[in-house]
Amino acid sequence: MAASGRARSFEELSPGRIIDARRHGAGKANTGPLPELFVRADTLAGWNAAASSCFGWIGRGAGVTGQGRDRVDIILVGGGLANGLIAWRLAASRPDIRLLVLEAGGAVGGNHTWSFHDGDLTAAERDWLAPFIVHRWPAYGVRFPERVRELPTGYASVTAERFAAVLGARLGPALRCNAAVATVTPTAITLADGERIEAGCVIDGRGPAPSRHLTLGYQKFLGQEIELAAPHGLTRPIIMDATIPQEDGYRFVYTLPLGPCRLLVEDTYYADGPTLEPGRLRTAIGAYLARQGWTAEALVREEAGVLPIALGGDIDAFWAERTGVPASGLAAALFHPTTGYSLPDAVRLADRIASLTDLSSEAVFEATRAQSVAAWNQRGFFRLLNRLLFLAGAPAERHRILQHFYRLPPPLVSRFYAGKLKPFDKLRILSGKPPVSVHQALRVLAQPAHSPKVTA
Ligand SMILES: Cc1cc2nc3c(=O)[nH]c(=O)nc-3n(C[C@H](O)[C@H](O)[C@H](O)COP(=O)(O)OP(=O)(O)OC[C@H]3O[C@@H](n4cnc5c(N)ncnc54)[C@H](O)[C@@H]3O)c2cc1C
Repeated sequence: MAASGRARSFEELSPGRIIDARRHGAGKANTGPLPELFVRADTLAGWNAAASSCFGWIGRGAGVTGQGRDRVDIILVGGGLANGLIAWRLAASRPDIRLLVLEAGGAVGGNHTWSFHDGDLTAAERDWLAPFIVHRWPAYGVRFPERVRELPTGYASVTAERFAAVLGARLGPALRCNAAVATVTPTAITLADGERIEAGCVIDGRGPAPSRHLTLGYQKFLGQEIELAAPHGLTRPIIMDATIPQEDGYRFVYTLPLGPCRLLVEDTYYADGPTLEPGRLRTAIGAYLARQGWTAEALVREEAGVLPIALGGDIDAFWAERTGVPASGLAAALFHPTTGYSLPDAVRLADRIASLTDLSSEAVFEATRAQSVAAWNQRGFFRLLNRLLFLAGAPAERHRILQHFYRLPPPLVSRFYAGKLKPFDKLRILSGKPPVSVHQALRVLAQPAHSPKVTA
């Protein structure tokens, strides 16, 4: 916290001060309304990614392709995180497979900074993900009103810009951008212009798939990548700073030090509703910077999200509605129930698909469904914690649950983020002085865990 002075919000920074997003983290235009339940990341500033790495090796225009000389084994619909990683693994380990990635936007990856804890992945998984990783730190910190702590667990980030560059170079003409898919079946797609492409298998990775079978809370945030006027002095990410006014649920600021004067600062809320108010969050980030004594020199880019936090649901009913279409990522409900993060699940799904000998749509559907259902069934305890977080306490008191959780030893915290808690871990998480009203907690615990209708 070396610098001092008044921080500025996005609106206060003149356009001339916004550093070229194409060099410093490109995004894609926000092209439509936010879906009802959870949204993919669309840049708020409307930057377009460089599309020059996107080719199409199958002809455009109405008609049927994907047969004979143009035979396609797998079509990946959506060039986001999950399908991008599947394409990467298949291209590396199964060069005989003919892939086609169809992305609606101008580039793959959208506008994200995807982070993960070292413990979320195995060493082998981290190895193959390495070309995408841009930032690594050996530890991270958390701050609560009554607890400040550093955890000696590695943390790393992948940027969408690197993702697009690395994947684009590997896939070449098997990647086709500005290709919005209108309809999807297990073995064929139709593009918006009417062109139909057939394949042995189609994997739907178009991002969040709102479903009446899942009950969700929301982690919503707006992040600004900011160049400061002077070094910030942070050496580690602060993944939760809840020493700020609590409003609209559990609120914290997430900060990644990306360079000596460069930060990604995200104002974040665990909220009951998905509505994001960008103007209010920009102002809040400005206030946070000022409180830390940091002066913004330039706004580099923004990213925003409304991520799903699972409270309950019926995963079998969710999959029954997919009519045999294999899915990946958020479209397959593959995310950590408490953080909404999907990178570790996406890495595991990519490995699983690349290891299949049978890549028919039936076999891939069964593999994607099985991974999603198994993950969901293993994570009932996280949904119970989420119900405690969202339903057992007043919104302004929610931070106490996280503050209580962070008293635990780093290996347990690491297993929590990895979704691999041991039975004794669960007991320890629930032990100690209850951070919320016992009466309310018992009411929440008494509700059936499989019910999609959970209430306070
Ligand atoms: C800003 C942000 C930051 C996040 N940070 C993290 C993080 O740090 N760690 C983490 O693990 N998770 C993070 N998440 C959560 C989650 O991992 C991401 O949302 C992740 O990108 C989801 O991957 P996906 O492949 O399911 O969907 P997406 O990455 O959203 O990919 C879906 C793709 O499909 C394309 N598409 C949509 N419709 C069509 C169509 N009709 N035709 C063709 N293409 C289409 C979209 O343009 C998009 O590129 C973050 C989410 C957001 C929004």
